Amino acid sequence: MQNIILLGPPGAGKGTQAARLQAERGMVQLSTGDMLREARASGSPIGDKVKAIMDSGELVSDAIVTALIGERLDTCADCGAIFDGFPRTKAQAEALDLLLAERGRSLDHVIELAVDEEALVQRITGRFTCAKCGVGYHDSFRPTEVPGVCDVCGSTEFKRRPDDNEQTVRTRLEEYRAKTAPILPFYEAKGLVRRVDGMASVDDVAAQIDAILDEPA
Ligand SMILES: [Zn+2]
Repeated sequence: MQNIILLGPPGAGKGTQAARLQAERGMVQLSTGDMLREARASGSPIGDKVKAIMDSGELVSDAIVTALIGERLDTCADCGAIFDGFPRTKAQAEALDLLLAERGRSLDHVIELAVDEEALVQRITGRFTCAKCGVGYHDSFRPTEVPGVCDVCGSTEFKRRPDDNEQTVRTRLEEYRAKTAPILPFYEAKGLVRRVDGMASVDDVAAQIDAILDEPA
């Protein structure tokens, strides 16, 4: 049973890898965003507290988030955990250490899907799909055979997602750096940070993560 933090900017495939680790290894993803939404909808005493705080526009305190994570860990004493969205600060990282230690657990790895930012921008902003049959293309990596004509259905209409523009992608990368900057040095100092090549194919990234998880203790 291993406990890991999975980090990676939008577009690096973190969600795909987390889903796979859950399906293949029975790990449980503890996403603080999901946990807060679930708590809020549950009507439990702590859930009502979360709802009142969120409705007032305040941030839910570390103490409440930590309590929710603790409750969740206690429902699955022998599953590995994937922490997502927490910790974001050094204080939270210390709280997480304590929370795990109280349960005889510890953090095994902080796995970051590292990306080449320029290449990621190119990868994301080049995507487009056929408006008629939905097949996916890319300006550089998978253009249509005849410019402007879908290889599959012959349509000449294409769509691009409004989020797939350079400014949005760069803003998301900046947000990611700002979110991880406070905790990476904390875990670097403990020797827990492992980087995998987030630009590799989904299968390659999976193999790199598996190799880390399968290292002898
Ligand atoms: Zn088409």
